[in-house]
Amino acid sequence: MKFEPSRIKALDQLNSFIKNDLNKYSKLRNFDYGPEKRDNVSCLSPYITHGIISELEVIKSSLKKSSYIKNEKFIQEVLWRVYWKGWLELRPKVWKDFLNQLKAVKEKYNNNSNYLDAIQGNTDLECFDAWVEEIKKNNYLHNHTRMWFASIWIFTLKLPWQLGAEFFMKHLYDGDAASNTLGWRWVAGIQTQGKHYLASEWNINKFTNNKFKNIKLKENEPPIDDYTQYQIETKILNNHDPKENESLIIFDNNLGYEECDFVNLKFANIYLVNNNKREIELSENVINFKKELLNDQKQRLDNQSIKAEIIDISEIPKIKEDISVLYPTVGENLDYLTKNCPNRVNFLYRLIDQFSWSFCNKGFFNFKNHIPKIIAKFV
Ligand SMILES: Cc1cc2nc3c(=O)[nH]c(=O)nc-3n(C[C@H](O)[C@H](O)[C@H](O)COP(=O)(O)OP(=O)(O)OC[C@H]3O[C@@H](n4cnc5c(N)ncnc54)[C@H](O)[C@@H]3O)c2cc1C
Repeated sequence: MKFEPSRIKALDQLNSFIKNDLNKYSKLRNFDYGPEKRDNVSCLSPYITHGIISELEVIKSSLKKSSYIKNEKFIQEVLWRVYWKGWLELRPKVWKDFLNQLKAVKEKYNNNSNYLDAIQGNTDLECFDAWVEEIKKNNYLHNHTRMWFASIWIFTLKLPWQLGAEFFMKHLYDGDAASNTLGWRWVAGIQTQGKHYLASEWNINKFTNNKFKNIKLKENEPPIDDYTQYQIETKILNNHDPKENESLIIFDNNLGYEECDFVNLKFANIYLVNNNKREIELSENVINFKKELLNDQKQRLDNQSIKAEIIDISEIPKIKEDISVLYPTVGENLDYLTKNCPNRVNFLYRLIDQFSWSFCNKGFFNFKNHIPKIIAKFV
């Protein structure tokens, strides 16, 4: 599977998946047949993460093919992303604590040979080493494999989950503060406290069609012991009303301007922001992927004669005019704004997020009950 960094390719991938493969998704989605055969899942996350195509575009397209009932599983999966984002928005301290804990464990594990063996794919576990190679080369892993990988990292290799989350963020094209941090916390047993995900030999054998040999795992470990409780921080998500001559800032999570809720507003200029100065260093492949996606968005705006410029994140504080910002969500881009220009930015929140995040105070099973309302309102 090769991910081409453009909206045209994203739409091709969406259309092809909906036309040929959607019907078998709920039955086959848990199988990882290897990088050469990925038609049992959509492979859309690198695009959706960057806003190249939106969750709503994907859901609408799926509903043209078949009914809500037939599509329910796929739609739920697509909306997991919205749920995780909303969950983290209501508890932003989880992200701050993750970054602080990461700093501490990094110092401790810098020269740890088990850690270095793991990130170099040099363990005694054939499956794990193959996945390390795959994530570095293809910058994608199947969802089930991400669960096995994280579980092996934490419970068999006994490495801190924060270092694993960093490793994923560095190499995944779809690396996302919410889905990744909360995915790792969930496997560790600290997201749903006391409930962890233990990878097992039979499960890996079954869902990889016995691809790997000698899968010797620790299958009876207890969850990670962290019972920190996070209070919900209520957030007011009122959309700013941009004045004349204001400019718009777009980060790498919102690169589908032509489909966004604010496309009819007029801005003096649009700044597409590149951010390579992150606490979590990105791999060269991921940096280049993001760079190409920014170029692709600029090209599409150029084609419509909309003035846009790609800038480095460090240039934001130097912008003279007032600025609106497509809300970057909890993560490194928002951290930069909060630190460097806290009083200058006015946020524009996606309407689906404004509506759906109010259902993210509890677990996903509660959120699921609200999905028909979300669909009725936006689709
Ligand atoms: C430890 C761990 C880390 C993860 N890190 C990330 C990450 O950094 N970025 C990321 O986008 N996803 C992450 N995921 C979620 C999931 O693995 C990927 O979204 C999925 O594998 C993408 O492949 P796909 O597009 O083929 O998914 P499909 O199965 O085709 O699903 C369709 C879409 O639904 C959404 N989706 C599906 N499952 C999930 C999920 N569990 N959480 C959130 N959205 C989901 C994605 O947008 C995906 O494109 C992580 C999961 C785990 C267990």
